Amino acid sequence: MVSDTEARVALIALTDIRKQYGGKEGSPAVEVLHGISLTIQAGEFVAIVGASGSGKSTLMNILGCLDKPTSGSYRFLGRDVSQMSADELAGLRREAFGFVFQGYHLIPTLDVLHNVQMPAVYAGMPAQAREERATGLLTLLGLGDKTAYRPQQLSGGQQQRVSIARALMNGGQVILADEPTGALDSRSGAQVMVLLNELAAAGHTVILITHDDKVAAQAHRIVRISDGEIVEDAVQPTSQEQPSLATAGTTMPTTASVAAGGSLSCVPFGSIGTEASALSASWLQDIGTTLSSAWRALWVSRFRTFLTLLSFIIGVASVIVLVAVGQGNNEKLLQQIALWGTHRMYVGPDVDATTGLRGEFYERDANVLEQVANVRIAMPYLAESALLRAGGETFATDVWSVTADAPVVLNWDVQYGVFFTPEDDDALAPVVVLGKVARERLFPDVLPQDVIGQYLLLNNTPLRVIGELAEKGLVSGSSHDDDLVLVPYSTASQRIFGKPQLSYVSVVVDDLDALDQTVKDIEHVMRQTRRADDFRVSNSAAVVQGKKEVMRQQTMLLALIAGISLVVGGLGVMNIMLMSVKERTREIGIRMATGGRQRDIRLQFLSEAVVVSCTGGVAGVVIGLAIGALLMLWNVPVIFSVRAMLVAFFCALGTGVIFGIMPARQAAKLDPVVALAGE
Ligand code: ADP
Ligand code: MG
Repeated sequence: MVSDTEARVALIALTDIRKQYGGKEGSPAVEVLHGISLTIQAGEFVAIVGASGSGKSTLMNILGCLDKPTSGSYRFLGRDVSQMSADELAGLRREAFGFVFQGYHLIPTLDVLHNVQMPAVYAGMPAQAREERATGLLTLLGLGDKTAYRPQQLSGGQQQRVSIARALMNGGQVILADEPTGALDSRSGAQVMVLLNELAAAGHTVILITHDDKVAAQAHRIVRISDGEIVEDAVQPTSQEQPSLATAGTTMPTTASVAAGGSLSCVPFGSIGTEASALSASWLQDIGTTLSSAWRALWVSRFRTFLTLLSFIIGVASVIVLVAVGQGNNEKLLQQIALWGTHRMYVGPDVDATTGLRGEFYERDANVLEQVANVRIAMPYLAESALLRAGGETFATDVWSVTADAPVVLNWDVQYGVFFTPEDDDALAPVVVLGKVARERLFPDVLPQDVIGQYLLLNNTPLRVIGELAEKGLVSGSSHDDDLVLVPYSTASQRIFGKPQLSYVSVVVDDLDALDQTVKDIEHVMRQTRRADDFRVSNSAAVVQGKKEVMRQQTMLLALIAGISLVVGGLGVMNIMLMSVKERTREIGIRMATGGRQRDIRLQFLSEAVVVSCTGGVAGVVIGLAIGALLMLWNVPVIFSVRAMLVAFFCALGTGVIFGIMPARQAAKLDPVVALAGE
């Protein structure tokens, strides 16, 4: 008998195990286990019995590799457990052990089916096989119709059976049950004991921890522990009456059905503690499972999740809207610049600071300016108000007196007819070119083409319409130039208004880069010829440049604001995750007890951060687009930028991940036994 036992490698061999609590940070060290030596063979049904506080749970945590002894050796199938890494221990828990706790330790956010499946998820079993096995086990334990229930919706006895199904999910060769009946009424307790008996009969090693002698009496071997020491270790007489399902008064499956189904039967140990089976699962399935469980966890605290989502949404949406509005304004400015013409300057009269006299400009000033280097065109320009009449219609508007260069200088072409020529100008030709609005007001019932050739009166001077300008439309939202009429400068000054003074000279330069020098040259030559400082050069190109710079700075400022709100979103994620880790330490413990590796835990919390930030990012893009569309309705210039959307989305994702890493690591670093005791 003795030689027979020695010949086999013991499943569990404890030698002189001691466990101290405290001793750190000034708290007194208390030894709870005083040198436990215990050998358990595969297939045994052992009850560890003792009074409350005698150290049973401490011993079980050590047996289940949830906790480490302070000293002594623990060999599992001959392997020294103290030499195993955290992941190897997780592997051992996953492949070899099945835990059943007094408080059931089910994850409240997962339904029954997913609670049972969890150890297989960590073992890398394919989803379909996993689901079939979990459903099979639950059916076998009489819970086939409860798979979609949440743990809180079940009675204590039912929850305990769910936790037994979970313990069996990966085989559960060694069932470690700590007071499994402690929280149950006697009938439910009896059902659980029947199950444990059946498992023992089916070849599982069952280690049952209890303070109750009556419960312990059902085991084949009783180890009595008192104040951290084994005081008795006895094998029960085989005549022990096994309770039957009939006496438990339930509709539980019988041993026969278990044997037929085979699901409770114990399969021999495979490669325990290796990662081989974990690698077989498909990556995609793993990701799907992780994300869906992340989503469930977030859904449970949905108000908090929503608040975090909100900060991401605000961040992403504001990036998109602000960039779109900024770009819209920029584009509008560019359009205005195109309309004004970038190469244009005005040289006109001003008040001389020393004499106090206002200068007057004549055609000769334009001729002087035309000679300055880099000046392509210097066009005399006179703006006057006048009354126009045609047929029965009258229209008071602005009359611009310009030369044949006007289409180039004003960057404005005719739509119908022609513009006047230098010859028209020299000959004081009585011709006029109309803006679209002016034409509509004066010739409301005539087709635009037919207006060409018609006559009108401008301050009583008859003029022939020779062309119509292209429509400019509303440029700055306030005024438009389409009500103008254009006449040759000579005609206007000599025949219509009879005044030689100009409003100003419009100057077009060739080389924009030489603009500064050209301005200096103009000022120099004007001072020389006019012998006074009674003029002013306004440089629209420089104004445009300045406006562009202001726009650029505004856009940067807006981007900065948006960036800040993204960081705030990231802090929100960190906060939600840290709170989540705190609240869910128990869950983390359960996951570790069922074989979750540190990286599984890390991945789970990180994926929650990713789910939040991704959802927030997508919602932010959608809402940003919606706000932009609304602004468009209000005539705000908006140009959406795909690049801004991508940047905002990936920034949101990035901040989510970066701020999620810390809490995820914190969760993964938790000690299983500490986490299990947490709440
Ligand atoms: P049992 O399960 O037999 O009731 P436990 O193993 O839970 O007993 O506890 C044994 C003793 O160890 C008790 O006195 C308990 O107060 C102490 N103890 C258990 N866990 C801790 C801990 N984490 N820190 C300090 N003391 C502990
Ligand atoms: Mg206990």
